[in-house]
Amino acid sequence: MTSIQSVQETVLKPYQQHKQLSVREAELISLELIGILCDSNCQDEATLQYLSRFFTPQLYQDLIDERNLNKRCGYPLCGKAPERIRDPFAVDDNTKKFLWENNPYAYLSIYCSKFHFRCSQFYQVQLSDESLFARTGIHLFNQSDDNAKCSTEKYSSTLFEQLLREKASDDDVKSLIAGLKKLGIKSDKEGDADDSDLQFETDLSKWLSEIQLGEHEKPAVWGDYEKDS
Ligand SMILES: [Zn+2]
Repeated sequence: MTSIQSVQETVLKPYQQHKQLSVREAELISLELIGILCDSNCQDEATLQYLSRFFTPQLYQDLIDERNLNKRCGYPLCGKAPERIRDPFAVDDNTKKFLWENNPYAYLSIYCSKFHFRCSQFYQVQLSDESLFARTGIHLFNQSDDNAKCSTEKYSSTLFEQLLREKASDDDVKSLIAGLKKLGIKSDKEGDADDSDLQFETDLSKWLSEIQLGEHEKPAVWGDYEKDS
């Protein structure tokens, strides 16, 4: 299990003396984060949110790939395997691309479920493209400095799970979808945008109703990673 504390202890501790990371230091931190997370899970939502200050979309994509190589669901909060284990060495990149574009269930070779596919997409689109070394002060434990606080807010993220919990009413589904579109979540298949939007809307309604039904019990959608932690 990876927690904020373990990231700070094992990855960030050597860099507490200065606010400005060098390019090399930023690279080392990125590599170490992938090294830790490709073979463990985030302990809680707060940990994944904390990590968004270090991730770029590309680094996060590398993490997903590495997790898949270790037969783990791409979403870092999850302890399961992808629904379909693929042999990463059996197909070349072109075949992979073809499969991804032509198989509507391709995400199941990367994630345990459609839900985590969506959670992961939602997280990824919020990540900043800015290089890690340019994000001054984000690695410091002590964030009492106003500048540091300001920059960590800039790289904060909201999780899809949290949004669903907060917006668990049907009336909000439309505004939620509008928000996701604004964030740039792309359709699964190019040139098929309308279908895929509709599909996403259906998925959302389904997840929301499961949450509402499960008000007193633990809703199934959340269950999978809470059980593991
Ligand atoms: Zn999963």
